[in-house]
Amino acid sequence: MQSISILGSTGSIGVSTLDVVARHPDRYRVHALSAHSRVAELAQQCERFRPEVAVVGSAAAAAELESLLRGKGLPTQVACGPEALCDIASADGCDMVMAAIVGAAGLASTLAAARAGKKILLANKEALVISGQLLMDAVAANGASLLPIDSEHNAIFQCLPPGYTRSMPAHGVEKILLTASGGPFLTRDVATLNEVTVEEAVAHPKWVMGRKISVDSATMMNKGLEVIEAHWLFGAPADKIEVVIHPQSVIHSMVSYADGSVLAQLGNPDMRTPIANALAYPERIASGVAPLDLAQIAQLSFSQPDFGRFPCLKLAYDALRAGGTLAAILNAANEVAVQAFLDRRIGFRMIDQLIQRVMSAIPNRQAADIGALLEQDAQARAHAEALISQ
Ligand code: NAD
Ligand code: MG
Repeated sequence: MQSISILGSTGSIGVSTLDVVARHPDRYRVHALSAHSRVAELAQQCERFRPEVAVVGSAAAAAELESLLRGKGLPTQVACGPEALCDIASADGCDMVMAAIVGAAGLASTLAAARAGKKILLANKEALVISGQLLMDAVAANGASLLPIDSEHNAIFQCLPPGYTRSMPAHGVEKILLTASGGPFLTRDVATLNEVTVEEAVAHPKWVMGRKISVDSATMMNKGLEVIEAHWLFGAPADKIEVVIHPQSVIHSMVSYADGSVLAQLGNPDMRTPIANALAYPERIASGVAPLDLAQIAQLSFSQPDFGRFPCLKLAYDALRAGGTLAAILNAANEVAVQAFLDRRIGFRMIDQLIQRVMSAIPNRQAADIGALLEQDAQARAHAEALISQ
């Protein structure tokens, strides 16, 4: 029996994780759950999964949760705030941590899990984008393990040999082929992109996801963040990571080897597959995902991404090549820009323009420690906000 803390349990990944966990009560027990503000949902999850601890974002939310839980006669302890998240990520009572908080808000708890030597199931790609070196170092230094939940990275993980050491040449790996659906605006007239609505941007053709990652998919910043994520997870330089547009989202990514072999992982687009894979690794367990019907899918197609249509993808490659804190700056500017778009304060094309302006305004520095990274993050957010207010 293994116990798990699920950070961000009310989100899209959190709910899918609980779905898989619920299928295997003989294998998994929930140690802790967390939600930012959806208290009623969290209370229902507590009733069903009986965690020892539940964490929310504010004292007010904690008081509300406390009264709901006591009303149901549940003994779950309630805590709140970023430190409580780090506590449940590093607690002795948990073996595994699902890092499924969205954005930089998930960084500290993911690092805490690494420092405590946990098995980390990493959905929070932003943590690696902001502090890839620090996180990978913390994992190595503390005997933690990092299993990718992002479907592409989980696919790549499955296509790499067991014991892969983050060195492509040592394992005869030539290239990482990162597939991308292209999102909702793959074929839309580029001249009309600034007029797209929030509703159009979050309506992903293949995946049901949280709002932030859905907008990231529409700009293809999501793929850009994933290029950086692949760099840190697999030790791949920028020019060995190729993005391939594949609208059917059946192949979740591929690894190309020196002998000409290309290995791919296929499946229906449902996050319960990578979640089940990472939970049970190296075993395989049922996930509830429907089997793949290839005859019904009939065709798989591929094309190259267009950087003119998707400037965010190019910005992410630029940040990876530049190194230092530029990826943290890019991520922070993107988080602010996406939120402003969701709040209908800026148009869709302002997202990439804003990120580009913030990246050229904030001087890139060497990322010495987490303090320096968070300072760059704060500067980039403030600058992006100032540009939006103008
Ligand atoms: P979501 O918006 O559905 O859920 C986010 C979760 O984080 C919620 O539980 C919310 O309560 C919590 N949260 C939000 N802000 C917080 C804060 N400031 N402090 C603490 N908790 C906070 O997002 P999601 O789609 O589940 O994505 C979660 C992460 O997984 C993201 O990093 C995303 O990029 C990654 N991811 C998601 C998918 C997917 O299919 N949804 C696929 C690959 C990777
Ligand atoms: Mg992905």
